[in-house]
Amino acid sequence: MAKKFVKAVFPGSFDPITNGHIDVVKRGVKLFDELIIAVGKSGVKDELFTQAERVEMIKELVADMPEVSVQSYECLTVEYAASVGATAMLRGLRNLTDVHYEFQLAMTNRAVAGIETIFVMTSEQYGFTSSTLIREVAKLGGNVGELLPESVYEKVKQRLCENHSS
Ligand code: ADP
Repeated sequence: MAKKFVKAVFPGSFDPITNGHIDVVKRGVKLFDELIIAVGKSGVKDELFTQAERVEMIKELVADMPEVSVQSYECLTVEYAASVGATAMLRGLRNLTDVHYEFQLAMTNRAVAGIETIFVMTSEQYGFTSSTLIREVAKLGGNVGELLPESVYEKVKQRLCENHSS
């Protein structure tokens, strides 16, 4: 039987992308032939980076991974996944709270679009890493350098400086 070519989408807001997300991408690359990191609207009031900025910074980070590409999308995630011919969705799990939320999301996505979700467990050291908390801690002057790729951390510091001076 011919080997199946599996294209997957890793959707999220990635505001900003963290070491936890990168960990999920590295695990995903081992499972799929092609992986698209799909950057959605953040939908939060305290957005740190625009969608275009998030796409650019992620592209830089995955430049050396030929199976990985980065795109932005505006529509429903499952519609986007279908539009690029993806048959699977990749999501990361940190804890039981994620499991509850992601389980419901995955069941809904399968019911409405027939798409399967593949979960990977994060590395232990990233179990507490969340973009939302990173934005909050960074705004209050906390050091989030350990949780972010270096280039992203530099951009976060720069953005917070710009925001303070405007
Ligand atoms: P959302 O926009 O749905 O809140 P995010 O953009 O924060 O999601 O993250 C996208 C995906 O990455 C989700 O599946 C989320 O569970 C996962 N994720 C976020 N942070 C981590 C982490 N530290 N380790 C593993 N998975 C993570």
